Amino acid sequence: MKLVPSSKRPCRLERGEVRRVPQDRTNLLVGYHVCCPRCGFNTPALAGHDDVNIAEGDEPDDLTFSKALRCTFCGVLMHVRHGELRLEEDADVRHISFR
Ligand SMILES: [Zn+2]
Repeated sequence: MKLVPSSKRPCRLERGEVRRVPQDRTNLLVGYHVCCPRCGFNTPALAGHDDVNIAEGDEPDDLTFSKALRCTFCGVLMHVRHGELRLEEDADVRHISFR
């Protein structure tokens, strides 16, 4: 699926949306809030933290993480390459029932 850059407050992000921190791209990147497409939980990706390097292209949605980001809540792995998000469920994923 495609990531959707958003300027909504982090608590209002919808599944699959990302928000840059800070919003102004002329400022040095701190990280991104990524709203997990699986459970809707907001997981922060901090640049340079946990061996995650975040590469930004010219377009706001051209985003690449050097390493998969694990959702804080459901534990799914989120691979981000050029704005495409792919989920990977490994043994650490928490199984949640959706109603
Ligand atoms: Zn999740």
